[in-house]
Amino acid sequence: MYVYADNAATTKLSEAAKAAMLPYFDELYANPSSIHSSGQRIKDDINCARQTVADVIGAAQANEITFTSGGTESDNQALLSAAALGAERGKKHIISSSFEHHAVLHTLNKLKKQGFEITLITPEPNGIVSTEKVAAKIREDTALVSIMYANNEVGTIQPISEIGAICRKNGVLFHTDAVQAVGHLFIDVQKQNIDLLSFSAHKFHGPKGVGGLYARRGTALSRLIEGGGQEKSRRPGTENVPGIIGLAAAVKEAYKNIDKDYLYILSLRDKILNSLLAIPGSRLNGDLQNRLPGNISISFEGLDSESLILLLDNKGISVSNGSACNSTSTQPSHVLRSIGVSKEYIRGTLRITLGRYNTEEEADYIIANVIESVNYLRSFSPVWKDSHKEESPYAV
Ligand SMILES: *Cc1c(COP(=O)(O)O)cnc(C)c1O
Repeated sequence: MYVYADNAATTKLSEAAKAAMLPYFDELYANPSSIHSSGQRIKDDINCARQTVADVIGAAQANEITFTSGGTESDNQALLSAAALGAERGKKHIISSSFEHHAVLHTLNKLKKQGFEITLITPEPNGIVSTEKVAAKIREDTALVSIMYANNEVGTIQPISEIGAICRKNGVLFHTDAVQAVGHLFIDVQKQNIDLLSFSAHKFHGPKGVGGLYARRGTALSRLIEGGGQEKSRRPGTENVPGIIGLAAAVKEAYKNIDKDYLYILSLRDKILNSLLAIPGSRLNGDLQNRLPGNISISFEGLDSESLILLLDNKGISVSNGSACNSTSTQPSHVLRSIGVSKEYIRGTLRITLGRYNTEEEADYIIANVIESVNYLRSFSPVWKDSHKEESPYAV
């Protein structure tokens, strides 16, 4: 049996997205900037895709959406643009949180070197950024607040509407990295007072290497690279046409079935979670209520998650211990550290992220194999054996 349960890292391309893209690898290959009818037809298709995205996130106008190469580029462009707009008005202070994705944190480091002052708010131990703490840090010279919509490691959903309202009241731009949220949660950029929002197709069953940035009308985007006039000169370079078409098909499909999928994924999640939390010395990371439906971030005392992931991999189960981007790093997760998880528990953390293609049978297979593997690994742990002798079936 093969079980893919690493949907926070990337998702399987949906059949609908794939089918929508295929003609654009084939007969629909013209350049959307060409003036002939073949090219203009492609340009129309891109604008249709733009309208689809605008509709699902509640944007007022399709031209508030700029297509990019993905979440990382969108985060870079959002932050650098807001910083440039702030600097024009003498505002060089930015507020964010310490458990953002590296696409945000590393861009903030770059801005710091350019003379911006960065305030990073530590999330509460339940993985939620306090709205009051954000409000308390806003100053006269604050240009931007950037808080992620949902965290990619622990799945916690942030109080975006509340933070948006505070930013609007204070005349501060608000960006949210919504890469884990778009396609999974209802979003309304107008009601939620969001000025800039990043998204990425491969996190909602679309293709990799394409995403976008919503920028409210009047929020001018800086160009990261120089070139032609594509995407209203905000993002030069010939468009990734099949990618954009696939993104729109995937997001449309995701929102068409969002209620049904949400409840289905949640039922699988709760089944797995309840079984795994029954394992002694286990704990859930992050709030249970304000959480993405598919996220399980669970820590086991007395074992090393790398060994656990490899054992599960041998059984055909793909899971992770945190962000896919940091899998080569030996540093303990900055997300888990930021919410105060102890070193011992960080070491034994497993991230299981489910999606709409997972089945009940797969959930049972995950449960059985995690329980068996945890017990097996703990049978080698002297510390665990001494303190929990009677609980381990492998106890000697
Ligand atoms: C995946 C992810 C990104 C990066 O998106 P890419 O399209 O892979 O560049 C950024 N932020 C969050 C929260 C993510 O989960």
